[in-house]
Amino acid sequence: MNTNHFFRSIIESLPELIVVATPVSDQETGETDFLIEYVNAAWEVISGSRCETILGKILSHTIYGKSTIPWQELGKEVLKSKRPVHCEHFSELVEKWLDITLIKLEGNHVCLNITDITELKQSEVRLKQQNMRLSSLSSELATSKNNLKIKLDKIETLNTNLEQLAYYDRLTELPNRTKFNSMLKDILCQAKHGETRFALAIFDIDNLKTLNDSLGYDAGDELIRQIAMRLNLFRKDGVLASRFGGDEFLLIMNHYDHDAELLYLINGIQESLREPYSLMSTEVKSSVSIGVATFPEDADTMHNLLKYADIALTDAKRRGKNTLSFFHTIMQETLLQRINLEQKLFRAMENEEFELYYQPQFDVGTRQLRGFEALARWNDMELGAVSPDRFIPVAEETRLIIPLGEWIMRNACTTLQEWQSVHGFNGILSVNISPIQLKHSDFLDILRKVLADTGIPPRSLELEITEGILINDFNESVRILEEIKALGVGISLDDFGTGYSSLSYLQYLPLTTLKIDKSFIENITQTKSREFDITNAIVTLVNKLGLDTIAEGVETGEQLEAIREIKCKTIQGYLTGKPLPKKDCPALIKSGIYTLE
Ligand code: C2E
Ligand code: MG
Ligand code: MG
Repeated sequence: MNTNHFFRSIIESLPELIVVATPVSDQETGETDFLIEYVNAAWEVISGSRCETILGKILSHTIYGKSTIPWQELGKEVLKSKRPVHCEHFSELVEKWLDITLIKLEGNHVCLNITDITELKQSEVRLKQQNMRLSSLSSELATSKNNLKIKLDKIETLNTNLEQLAYYDRLTELPNRTKFNSMLKDILCQAKHGETRFALAIFDIDNLKTLNDSLGYDAGDELIRQIAMRLNLFRKDGVLASRFGGDEFLLIMNHYDHDAELLYLINGIQESLREPYSLMSTEVKSSVSIGVATFPEDADTMHNLLKYADIALTDAKRRGKNTLSFFHTIMQETLLQRINLEQKLFRAMENEEFELYYQPQFDVGTRQLRGFEALARWNDMELGAVSPDRFIPVAEETRLIIPLGEWIMRNACTTLQEWQSVHGFNGILSVNISPIQLKHSDFLDILRKVLADTGIPPRSLELEITEGILINDFNESVRILEEIKALGVGISLDDFGTGYSSLSYLQYLPLTTLKIDKSFIENITQTKSREFDITNAIVTLVNKLGLDTIAEGVETGEQLEAIREIKCKTIQGYLTGKPLPKKDCPALIKSGIYTLE
């Protein structure tokens, strides 16, 4: 194959434009220009016209001629430098980027290689744009990172504040109950694993109430703050202090080996808290009573440690101010007995082990039966007869009194209905109602239901309340009593003289009867005794108010005489009749009067 022909065919098939030209002087401008001698087939693809049409023509007039490509300068440069000249140029005429290389050939000919690099350029631009976007994104990212950090910092501050609020007491900044519980849990766990000991102390301030009343609450708050500061000084001795609110503080002490060390430490704390305080420029003395329980000697659960320390505190306070009590076995025995009683009481309720006895009440003047008071009785298999004075308070504390009280009321009213229908009883039956029972939201509904179920006339029922009910929320108690009265049921004030004992409130209560406590009756016979005078005054006033008066606990004939003298209407006592089991009552209902032996 002819080599010339071979190379020519290669050049012809190249996609880029190859032009060979020779320098001439432009007749119009006199500038050096180029006469086209050869152009490869790519020209036909680019321009759509045949190659022959531009052969022999001036370069700057033809190929991208009207564009701004500086052909003449480029040509001059390549001829002068004799080295390839290269440039990239945007032709506005064809709106394309061109890569142009000029090479000087032998005999003053110039070869032009023109490649369309528009796509390459566009990708470059795109790349540049993307890079710019990327850098703006990265700066945005940096800004949002920064913002995020600020937000996170804010959240952290907020969290710290929240934690402070949730776990620390605001006044003293000591751990509060929640924090204390988790601290105690951890310490208990560590002590169990490490077989170490620790003590839990509870104390309250002996004179905070007096201080609040005399110097004001700000002084009280200041005292609490200063106590907390003094307690913090014992941190180095392993004392963790916390405040449960009010004047109640708790301490955990876990850096001691012997009881003597613990005693020394607690005495030190107590002494430090006894040092005078300066409150509102006044020097004030204060003291604390402390109850202590230890792990593992006294208890090994959080609940029991707290409970026992509290029992020890009650014991300390019972012994006076500035006292210290360690929980010990005697307390534990009392406590166990109490727990035992609680459990037995719940079982007794389930098994209906209770019974009602009925103590008769008689008219002093006519000796006639006025009615009965229902009194609860409980006979435990193991404990024997348990007095209501012992089990009623426990039932009240455990709120068992609510179902028990309902049982008592229903049982008593059923018996009353039976006596009315079978024995023609037309007297009154009194039922004792505990304050907790009376204030329970269901009480009035239960009363209405019992009345409806038994069909007894409401006036034959009398509810005995105590002054205790009036202590908290007098108005609410009066409202409930008014509703009872509206049902037609009588209301008797029991044990008058032992509690609140104010005659002034009697006029506000819708009472039918007042029962004078047996403590008054006991001494009523002593000549010119205070009890006689007081009882006399009470009865005179109460009679004027139109209420029935009952003297409780009448045991002797002399007491009966004194009662007759002061014109008390009714008596109830061992003298005229002890509480009787239900079966013994019909005989008394039948006779209808009391007889003295
Ligand atoms: P209370 O309601 O004042 O009942 C009178 C208490 O005095 C009864 O004691 C009765 O047996 C006793 N008593 C009556 N006459 C004499 C007497 O001449 N001398 C002496 N020394 N005592 C006499 P009881 O039955 O042991 O009840 C004690 C307290 O337990 C009651 O005092 C009452 O407060 C409470 N209680 C008894 N039964 C119930 C009940 O069913 N429900 C409620 N909530 N409390 C009850
Ligand atoms: Mg009573
Ligand atoms: Mg009484």
